[in-house]
Amino acid sequence: MDPIQKELELIRAKAKDINGVELVACVAAMVRFKIKKTTHKSLDACFLFPDNYPHEPIVIELKSKVLADRLLYGLSQICEDEAKKLLGQRQILPMVEFINKFIAENPLCVCSDEISRIKRDLMTKDDEIKLKQKTSQVILKLKEGAYYLNAKLTIPDEYPEVQVGVEIKDQNLPETFRIHIVMQAVEIARRCVQPPMKKTPKDAPFKPKPSLGPVCEYLVKEVIHTFPKEICPCCREPCLPENPTNISNEPSDSRFIERVYCKHLFHHGCLDTYMKTPPFTGGKKCPACGNRIYHEKWKITPELAEARWAHKEARRRELSEVVDFLE
Ligand SMILES: [Zn+2]
Ligand SMILES: [Zn+2]
Repeated sequence: MDPIQKELELIRAKAKDINGVELVACVAAMVRFKIKKTTHKSLDACFLFPDNYPHEPIVIELKSKVLADRLLYGLSQICEDEAKKLLGQRQILPMVEFINKFIAENPLCVCSDEISRIKRDLMTKDDEIKLKQKTSQVILKLKEGAYYLNAKLTIPDEYPEVQVGVEIKDQNLPETFRIHIVMQAVEIARRCVQPPMKKTPKDAPFKPKPSLGPVCEYLVKEVIHTFPKEICPCCREPCLPENPTNISNEPSDSRFIERVYCKHLFHHGCLDTYMKTPPFTGGKKCPACGNRIYHEKWKITPELAEARWAHKEARRRELSEVVDFLE
């Protein structure tokens, strides 16, 4: 029998034994497989016999509606090299197994485009991104001056339908920031995969979006490359000390860092003075952005603030009169 016909027969018999693979076409003109791990990890592999087969490598075409073109191109190159190792032998089944294994062992292939964009657009020369295919994780090591933040982002099997997992491994920003950073990152990821509570009829039907990119963008742009450079809107000096070991963790310390609702940072001492100084009408507004300041530590009404101010002023006047009298 013709060796190609023999190989086709063998493929028909054995293809069903390979997990996650479906034989779609199996004729001398073309052999075609569907390789599918999850909805977003699936591709079609087409094999064409060259004239001198099997003494020439089998021609492989990879197509996918969900995987990135760049990834398919890279994988095609690897496949070509792999097929060259099989000259003189039946190549199709080993190649299908090879591709199937590649998809299984490289779960981050599902976000390869996002990862290239993160590397290209977000990382500065001090930042590092590492891929852990074995555990389906992206490790970020971010740096700004003496400050750092290391995060572990886990890509679930059903990504992008399910959001990326966020964990801060280590950081030297103020300890009180850690929970806030994680909460904010998780919220950004959640909004990528869950429709908004309030829907307007004009909105297009909700479709989950990849969440790795938005979470990385937040950690890189809004956290590590912003907080250490933030200026206190009151005294115009940097909020965080140049040396992270000088961070104050004592909430009543004047250099303790307060984060207000509008995201601006203040020295505790500066904010305390500002919150207790008129004008109070309409509530105190952030000097940097004009948004009303809401903060746990200064939860008083403008009227009460006004009364306290008046009382303090009266006391000060009394005291200065006493001082005048003593002089
Ligand atoms: Zn200040
Ligand atoms: Zn503000």
